[in-house]
Amino acid sequence: MKYHIVILGCQMNYADAERVQAVMAKLGYTFTQREEEADVIGIIACSVRQKAIDKVYSKIAKWNKWKNKKNLITFVSGCVLPDDRMKFLKLFDLVFDMKELASFPAMLSQYGVTTPVSNSSIVNSEEMSEVARPATVAEKLALAGAKPLSKVAAAPETWDVTPIYNSEFEAFIPIQNGCNKFCTFCAVPYTRGREVSRPSEDIIEEVAALIERGYKSITLLGQNVNSYGLDKKVAELSFAALLDKLGEIADSSGHEVWIYFTSPHPKDMTRDVIEAIARRRSLAKQIHLPVQSGDDKVLIRMNRKHSMARYREVVGWIRDLLPGASLFTDIIVGFTGETDEQFENTRAAIREFEYNMAYIAMYSPRPGAASFAWQDDIPHAVKKERYAVLTGDLEKVALAYTRKMKGETVRMLVRAKDRKDGYLTGHTEGKIIVRFLSEDESLIGQFVDVKIESVRPFSAEGAVVKEVVEA
Ligand code: SF4
Repeated sequence: MKYHIVILGCQMNYADAERVQAVMAKLGYTFTQREEEADVIGIIACSVRQKAIDKVYSKIAKWNKWKNKKNLITFVSGCVLPDDRMKFLKLFDLVFDMKELASFPAMLSQYGVTTPVSNSSIVNSEEMSEVARPATVAEKLALAGAKPLSKVAAAPETWDVTPIYNSEFEAFIPIQNGCNKFCTFCAVPYTRGREVSRPSEDIIEEVAALIERGYKSITLLGQNVNSYGLDKKVAELSFAALLDKLGEIADSSGHEVWIYFTSPHPKDMTRDVIEAIARRRSLAKQIHLPVQSGDDKVLIRMNRKHSMARYREVVGWIRDLLPGASLFTDIIVGFTGETDEQFENTRAAIREFEYNMAYIAMYSPRPGAASFAWQDDIPHAVKKERYAVLTGDLEKVALAYTRKMKGETVRMLVRAKDRKDGYLTGHTEGKIIVRFLSEDESLIGQFVDVKIESVRPFSAEGAVVKEVVEA
């Protein structure tokens, strides 16, 4: 029997999907790339953008039509707002929170689904019969006229499930889930709930195992990764101490690996995090630090909980302690009420902080976020104009960095075939995209040293001078 998963949204959803895949594999299902072949088909949803929600509705409309011709079980999980969840209950067979993933086999069995390993311990074990059945599933089962399970235990977290990694050289490791910040433009605190940190010993064990298996790129994931440990009632490592420990393990492993994290919040960033990155060779010299706006008044309306002075202080630590590190950010243009002068302050921030990359978004109200109720008063044409101007500013500062790479030999991780025929592509430690002429696909997943011959603002092209083969 086969299953298929559609993944929408951010890297966190991809990491979650790897854990769903592990559960499906344990049940004996095999993955299929072709939706139409699947017996169980699901979607890891994203409520952050309307486009993603529209996609969920168009997919389930199609899948429900298929049910006239074949047996098919559908499910949805991921970032789902309470309102959407209620609508999905009428459309999907199963709607569950990622925290409830360990209960997924029990949910399938409640539907009378005979899984490929239906006699396995997963479905029939005492453990699974006692597992928590979430409210969402209870609602769904009630709609289906099913009897509720009698025993309820504390819901496990997604990370309690060992994932199937889709890549053999890069992995995304959740270390924290949820958010307590409540930025007014964002719905994440309502879809993923409050901050919960994963036990550090689990993270250390998973990362150490990946390093031993030769993984080259490991990214620690969380909505607010540097508030790691702050939610714990018991003593837990600080984010800086966790990073330092992982860096120490990686540095002494004999393997070359780049360890990243995303996304930190400027409010919770401490100098000892930057010091740990400076101290440990394996902690990648690349920081993604969302600024969102360069204007204090806009930051207050966004409820970002940090000022530009605070942001400047953090960038100062990065420049002092990590010379040469690349700096990425996220920016929203045309947020409710943003004046020309406030937009100019964001332009000034691009010039001041000399970003290598900024993910710039034109503001659009997100259902579920506080600002959804506010008037979206910046005309689309103005947002478009500001987007174009800011992109132009960004290209100038980014090009100043990549120009310095010209003629240099840089190490890069080869990740895939490039869109340009005959080329392979990947990125440097600082996540600058590099491509080079080669059809040797055995290099994918390896480090190579490349001499840079030409550059653009966000990428470079060169020729391999050395392949880095691990003993
Ligand atoms: S910090 Fe703000 S933008 Fe990031 S997840 Fe939390 S609420 Fe959303």
